[in-house]
Amino acid sequence: MYDVVIVGGGPSGATAAMDLATQGKKVAMIDRDGRIKPCGGAVPPRLIADFDIPDEQIVCRVNTARMISPTQRHVDIPIENGYVGMVDREHFDEFLRTRAKAAGAHRYTGTFVRIDRDANGTYVVYRDKISGNEMALETKLIIGADGARSKVGTQEVPGGDKIPYVIAYHEIIEAPAANENYDPMRCDVIYDGAISPDFYGWVFPHGAQCSVGMGTEVDGVDLKVATAKLREASGLTGCKTIRKEGAPIPLKPLDRWDNGRDVVLAGDAAGVVAPSSGEGIYYAMVGGRVAAEACLACLASSNAKDLKLARKAFMKEHKMVFRVLRSMQDAYYKSDERRERFVSLCHDVDVQKLTFEAYMNKKLVKARPMAHLKIGIKNISHLWGLVRPQHV
Ligand SMILES: Cc1cc2nc3c(=O)[nH]c(=O)nc-3n(C[C@H](O)[C@H](O)[C@H](O)COP(=O)(O)OP(=O)(O)OC[C@H]3O[C@@H](n4cnc5c(N)ncnc54)[C@H](O)[C@@H]3O)c2cc1C
Repeated sequence: MYDVVIVGGGPSGATAAMDLATQGKKVAMIDRDGRIKPCGGAVPPRLIADFDIPDEQIVCRVNTARMISPTQRHVDIPIENGYVGMVDREHFDEFLRTRAKAAGAHRYTGTFVRIDRDANGTYVVYRDKISGNEMALETKLIIGADGARSKVGTQEVPGGDKIPYVIAYHEIIEAPAANENYDPMRCDVIYDGAISPDFYGWVFPHGAQCSVGMGTEVDGVDLKVATAKLREASGLTGCKTIRKEGAPIPLKPLDRWDNGRDVVLAGDAAGVVAPSSGEGIYYAMVGGRVAAEACLACLASSNAKDLKLARKAFMKEHKMVFRVLRSMQDAYYKSDERRERFVSLCHDVDVQKLTFEAYMNKKLVKARPMAHLKIGIKNISHLWGLVRPQHV
């Protein structure tokens, strides 16, 4: 009998598995394996520090973010006191799973099917990848960390099947040599309705490779055509394409992460990806950690209400950042005119500092009230069209 069975071995599931195993719990992690998670792979220093990510997993250290407007004007934001790390999910996820196993978690390869309950106990049923047979693991608790469109969430948690999504698509290409368009230490973020009518496009360097992609919630947008346009505009059309892949990014944390009984969700399954940026790896790992803590509390108390602690702990720390990013997306991702203003706003050194401090260290800086006031006024002026966008 397991204390906890975790469905999914991505950043959230593998983190939960490692934390629980480290605490001496009997834990199993089921992952279907065999597919590299489509992902830009950008991670902040806070993740690298909090989750002890070794240097060799960071394939590139980005020192500049370039924000590009619909009229192709740009602002280069230097990343001071640190860097944005890039991980290759092919190796990063496997590293996390191997580390969880080394800590004592049992690893199973197969696809989650359902949870069975009877008078004797609770069983997680999965289809074994090698034998093709249905297997059952008996457990006290379950963590659903099976990503966007979570099957565990859909089956077990109210609202788990109703999370809104951006569909994101990217192409992994061979990175060109550095040139006037391409800097192997710079992330480009493209705010242009022709690339994405409601989100953004990106060019993220990954050492020998590069991720070029975009996301949108709007039906009918041809993601491949938009990415081809982006590659052309970025001078990357001629680069060899290694992979083409897409996946949903959830846009809104669920109101409930547990079923009030024996299941708690973590990461994309719980809907926790930051609005505006689509950043999900850090939040997935935090989600795995708080789900593990909630399970530990629940195992100790035998009170299913303790599963609620996962969402509570997460929201206490991150609710405000999610709220600010949500209103930024609602305000600025609406039209090219707004996007032009948004990029213009990024000229402001205080905007740059506050945004990057929030991204890098996951803290909203409270120390400079006058800067906040100034940014607030600039924000309102831009949204009301009282000032003209500033251009480079
Ligand atoms: C194109 C794209 C670009 C992105 N770029 C970034 C970025 O640059 N930076 C960033 O921070 N975030 C980015 N994200 C978001 C980020 O990838 C996710 O938020 C993050 O991977 C969530 O981690 P997770 O562990 O919750 O879920 P996943 O990473 O999706 O892991 C879920 C795991 O569950 C397994 N699984 C699923 N269903 C089953 C099943 N039925 N049975 C068994 N196993 C199952 C899968 O194999 C997978 O290993 C991007 C997303 C996309 C789609």
